[in-house]
Amino acid sequence: MRSSTKLTLFSTFLILAVLMFQYLMLISEVNNDARSKGIDYSYNFYSIIPIIFLLVMGLIAFFISALIIDRIFNPLRLMISKIKEIGEIHFENPLIIDSGDDEIKEYVTAFNNMSAKISSYIERQKRFISDVSHELATPITVINGHADMLLRRGKSHPELLDSSLKIVKGEILKMDGLVNNLLFLARSDSGKQTYSFEVNDLTELISESAEEIEVIAPEFIIENEVQGDIFALCDAYALKRVLRIILSNAVRYSANSKRIWIKAYESHGLINISIKDDGIGIALEHLPRIFDRFYRVDDSRTKVTGGSGLGLSIAREIITAHGGEITVNCEAGTGCEFMLLLTAAKSNKPSSNLHLPNRTSSSKGC
Ligand code: ADP
Repeated sequence: MRSSTKLTLFSTFLILAVLMFQYLMLISEVNNDARSKGIDYSYNFYSIIPIIFLLVMGLIAFFISALIIDRIFNPLRLMISKIKEIGEIHFENPLIIDSGDDEIKEYVTAFNNMSAKISSYIERQKRFISDVSHELATPITVINGHADMLLRRGKSHPELLDSSLKIVKGEILKMDGLVNNLLFLARSDSGKQTYSFEVNDLTELISESAEEIEVIAPEFIIENEVQGDIFALCDAYALKRVLRIILSNAVRYSANSKRIWIKAYESHGLINISIKDDGIGIALEHLPRIFDRFYRVDDSRTKVTGGSGLGLSIAREIITAHGGEITVNCEAGTGCEFMLLLTAAKSNKPSSNLHLPNRTSSSKGC
């Protein structure tokens, strides 16, 4: 028997028991009253009228109980069907129960929030697995192709060996980079990514990063305008990684103009770093997603530039771990400006009163 039926029967029985008790009390009161007045009177307990009354009351009690209990159990039934949907990964619409402003409404809201989180988590997992598989598929295919070719023709054409192995090595390096980026994000997600916070001279870090890019892309002119000495409590290695990601994107997504502007200044205890290019830019509709993992504005374009769509998500992880912010200002055709906001440190000695997230130190310093 279902719980709702049991509860309906039980409440009907309870109502009838109360009515019966009241009825017996009434009879004994009437009889006692008659006896005290010397009237020889005794009410017939088995009279037909009270029995019909009790039966009618029992039926009414049963229907009212069934109605109330059904109202209480209905949200539960709907939730059960939704939970089954989640199990089948088809959860799309939230659970809607019109039950006024009560506990059930609160419960439904909490349930919907939980379901939406589970649903988006499942969706992210699916997308992540498909993105990783997609990213690994190309290098594996290339390596496999070259291995096949070398097996077939390598012995008779030893000149192929050199070029093939170079390509294979390049693809292995790509996979290695991808796996390292994924490991970094996995460590960040689980809170296991460690940082070595020290007071660092950002003027130096920015200059070093700019010089690195000038070596890789000598055709670029980098205008480095850093105002005064700027110090921040940061992991120099991680911060340089962020600068490298943004600068190399500025190079990769450049148009005809080969200029990059770096500005940095401190104001009211905050450090503002801006890296601007006048390359191909990003259309407005893509901006909200460019920090998402594996997001690329244009897949075909990125195939030429060789990106995997993880750079900016790694940059955001690092800046967030530093208690800072990374924002972007872009338009298609007019270039991009990436802005970093960090907390300034006043000296180059470790400072205790700086507000920083709770991270342990162990990775490489500058
Ligand atoms: P990727 O490795 O593909 O460059 P990122 O996460 O670094 O991945 O960047 C995400 C996407 O944002 C890129 O694929 C590119 O389309 C766009 N993007 C990033 N920086 C720039 C830039 N400076 N100019 C134009 N587009 C950019």
